[in-house]
Amino acid sequence: MSYQVLARKYRPQKFSDVIGQEHVTRTLQNAIAQERIAHGYIFSGHRGIGKTTVARILAMAVNCRSAEGPVAEPCGVCDSCTEIRAGNAVDVIEIDAATNRGIDEIRELREAARYRPARDRFKIYILDEAHQITDAAFNALLKTLEEPPGHVIFMMATTQPEDIPQTIRSRCQHFSFRAVKFEDIMGRLRDIVTKEKIPADEDALALLAEAGDGSMRDALSILDQAIASTADHLTLDSVRSLIGSAPAGALETVMQAVAESSSEKILVLVDELIGEGHSPTHFARQLVRFLRNATVAKIAGKDSALLQISSDERARVGRIADLFSEEDLTRHLQIMLRTHGELGYRQEQRFHLELGLLKMTHAQRLLPIEQLLSDAAASASGPPRTTPRPVLTSPTEVRRSEPPASARSNSVSPFAADSARKGSPKAEASGDAAAFADKSVRATHPSGATSANVVIMGSAAPAVAELSPEPDPQPAAPTEVKSELRTEARVEANTESLRDAILDALRNQQMLVSILENAEWRLEGSSLIAKVAASSTMIEMSFTADARRIAGAAASGLAARPIKMLLEPGGTPQVSSPPRRAATLNGSARSRAEQDPIVQRMKEKFGAEIRTVIDYREKP
Ligand SMILES: [Zn+2]
Repeated sequence: MSYQVLARKYRPQKFSDVIGQEHVTRTLQNAIAQERIAHGYIFSGHRGIGKTTVARILAMAVNCRSAEGPVAEPCGVCDSCTEIRAGNAVDVIEIDAATNRGIDEIRELREAARYRPARDRFKIYILDEAHQITDAAFNALLKTLEEPPGHVIFMMATTQPEDIPQTIRSRCQHFSFRAVKFEDIMGRLRDIVTKEKIPADEDALALLAEAGDGSMRDALSILDQAIASTADHLTLDSVRSLIGSAPAGALETVMQAVAESSSEKILVLVDELIGEGHSPTHFARQLVRFLRNATVAKIAGKDSALLQISSDERARVGRIADLFSEEDLTRHLQIMLRTHGELGYRQEQRFHLELGLLKMTHAQRLLPIEQLLSDAAASASGPPRTTPRPVLTSPTEVRRSEPPASARSNSVSPFAADSARKGSPKAEASGDAAAFADKSVRATHPSGATSANVVIMGSAAPAVAELSPEPDPQPAAPTEVKSELRTEARVEANTESLRDAILDALRNQQMLVSILENAEWRLEGSSLIAKVAASSTMIEMSFTADARRIAGAAASGLAARPIKMLLEPGGTPQVSSPPRRAATLNGSARSRAEQDPIVQRMKEKFGAEIRTVIDYREKP
């Protein structure tokens, strides 16, 4: 007998054999038992997780001849069952929609569907890759689905259900298949090697299951190859060399070297891996996955169900998660994702891999400096404001051992605000740099008049500018307000100041600003809600993800706590707020820039020089 691949040989023949899709099989069996069989089904989910298999089992169940009507579990031995399994049943037609996707094929199908089944109860069409069917062909199919002949059942298997027109979807029952769990794939692999009488190490199977990545078919096809390539015994090494993956220990070693900032160790390790014939792309992909798992382990714990990996691998990612903070891990993941993306179409892959790994090491070292820069850059956000900017004074929001709130800078960078919120030890530990930035920003404020409205640009220096605080043109609240009302008045003022900060930050997005200027604003917990006189479509169009991020950062920076900006429709159009008064300032911009403590410190620390000074006061 000719060799049959494992995925086919062990293809489930009953609902109860299907692994990891109980939510689908149970519902289908109940529907059969209650004689509520639909005329259209959509089975969606990743490749290789049993969509077509379930469609075939369903076809067997409704056409099985072991009983008078459809059965909840096919017998597997009657003519109908055996023919469907072999794929030559007259009344079960499997169509690969990837190649038969046009209007002609569907018209033909529609014609044929009108005739009664030759022998079985139902005429069943299984459309694989159904999302590939053209729109015109779907329209033709729709006619049949609208008034289906009683004997016809359509089953559509697809990886992209969203590409199937809504009109079709609404006439079908839709089942989403889940990625198969690591443990389930493991169990199945164990089962199969036992049946095939192939001795296999547990860790070899674990690596196969991981490589399957939620797809049973993928895992089985790698197992096929592994069996073919090894003489007798499946070992971890044989599987690893087959799929070309680097030893799991190598990933851990790289990340340890990153934690130790040891660039040399990393270069030696890359050299070893390349020497052993590993591909840089594959290694980068492994590292991306490893870092993703480490990040998940950091956030949700290493025993989280979000990790579909073996227990050895859990221990490894857990150890790495302990070495880094959540921020570090996401940063490293980002660097490796970019590196992996770049490797795909680059010539000198090895160098790019090395560069990516070294970047992680540098990111580890540069963190305190980056924090300093982001603090400085955040205070450069925006032209002068004339409206008052009261500081949040609720006692719960006072952080660390700050000076009195009124003296505090209200331009806290989102980065610093974030660190403070999480109480990350880094914020304290990185000490010097962050503290200096904090102090210098603060120092410019009490004096009020010393800072200039300038931006300094240079090769190394970030954009630095200080806003000049002006005396409040209007008091925040009348003094005779009763004490009970005072809190409310302050909240009012906070909403006002947040509104100003956001409008300022979004000043380049004119459409959005014009909507927001006439909105009714309110602060609810950590959500700042603007009720605007615009439709939800308008909101969706103008309040982009980018704008959302900018607004959130501006508000969170001002409030020194995370604040989310939301827009809701239904506001009444209001009269425009009075135009902002232009700032009147004087003095040489360059001399003010030179006096700025941040600039002085930059010059001293990095040897930076002032190249260009842009004075925004001169611009309208
Ligand atoms: Zn049967």
